[in-house]
Amino acid sequence: MDVISHGIWGGMLLGKRTNFWLAAVFGILPDALAFLPYLIPRILAGELSAILARPQIYPPWVLTVYNCTHSLVIAGMIFYALCRIRLDLGLAFLAWPLHILFDIPTHTAASFPTKFLFPLSHLHCNGIAWRTGYIFLGNWLAIAILYLLQAARMQIAQQQ
Ligand SMILES: [Zn+2]
Repeated sequence: MDVISHGIWGGMLLGKRTNFWLAAVFGILPDALAFLPYLIPRILAGELSAILARPQIYPPWVLTVYNCTHSLVIAGMIFYALCRIRLDLGLAFLAWPLHILFDIPTHTAASFPTKFLFPLSHLHCNGIAWRTGYIFLGNWLAIAILYLLQAARMQIAQQQ
């Protein structure tokens, strides 16, 4: 799934009980932590094409960080720690494992497969790429429908 969708899904589904923007940031972090440390220096150096780089071009450490940030095992440990600190923080953090659940079926084995049990296992799904037309458009259509439903529900609540 594209990173903007991850943020919106996290904010819309988990931001109600906590904070939209906090949940949205947690929804974006798995990709941001994996890719931005590599991409930002290249973009600042004028290598804008780095954004469109194929997975084979990324250095191995990017894939290792990606595997860590896309692990339900690691996310579970972070969730447990955050809940012990502040429950609302832990609830907003659920946008992170939601990101992983979206990525499992929307990444192919050739393009950053989501090894959701890393480091215990390299098990992954050879899914359908999120860039595929009907997946991409279906995702944004689902976001638009959910947004409209939430807006209608808020309007009804205000009228009562
Ligand atoms: Zn991701």
